[in-house]
Amino acid sequence: MIIRKSPAEIEAMREAGRVSAKVLREVGKQVRPGVSTLELDEFAEALIRLEGGIPAFKGYGGFPGSICASVNEQIVHGIPSKGVVLKEGDIISIDTGAIVDGWVGDNAWTYPVGKVSPEKKHLLEVTEAAMWAGLDAARPGNRLGDIGHAVQSVAEAAGFSVVREYVGHGIGRDMHEDPNVPNYGRKHTGIRLEPGMVLAIEPMVNAGTHKTRVMPDGWLVCTRDGRPSAHFEKTVAITEDGPLILTTEEGHRRPV
Ligand code: MG
Repeated sequence: MIIRKSPAEIEAMREAGRVSAKVLREVGKQVRPGVSTLELDEFAEALIRLEGGIPAFKGYGGFPGSICASVNEQIVHGIPSKGVVLKEGDIISIDTGAIVDGWVGDNAWTYPVGKVSPEKKHLLEVTEAAMWAGLDAARPGNRLGDIGHAVQSVAEAAGFSVVREYVGHGIGRDMHEDPNVPNYGRKHTGIRLEPGMVLAIEPMVNAGTHKTRVMPDGWLVCTRDGRPSAHFEKTVAITEDGPLILTTEEGHRRPV
């Protein structure tokens, strides 16, 4: 069941979005060679709480961290660890969210660690562009498949692939609400997008095969071929006036 939000509820979600965005940006500034993903997690949790939020991920399905930290060929759901220390040339996908006044914000960004290879740099640029294309499609009159089609088109035009097994989602008082928001699809298919829907749009784009595998800890998801993967995400409300990004510190209405 899709829970549509009233304009007042969307307004209320902006604070969770603002905190989520600020934390993601500030954690991104801590990304450098020599830092462990556990240190990034501790930084994020402290800042979420300082901003009056609760880490949305901590304890979710038993997940131990306040961020997911996924390096290089790791796609999503990496558990922060003292033993995972970033080095020059890595890329790290950080996913984090905050709960404020019972509303959830969810966002992700992939950061380069120092100087990265041209392939990784291109992967980051394309995945971010795919996310913006998906966000731009989140408007009344479109259908769910238009979002996936927009994301997939950008990723595949660059020769990359989109992950199938993990998708975006509705979001509100729960982090994961209906509908699922695939990063692939056909134009003019799927449910109609209507004002009041709030979605987390989150392309996961792989340099090589789209195929994934779950690692033995039951959380971490990696590419099957070991090639790198990137992940960008924002929470967006569909309004009469178009997409309204909630995980932002500025409150700009239009993604493009
Ligand atoms: Mg999400």
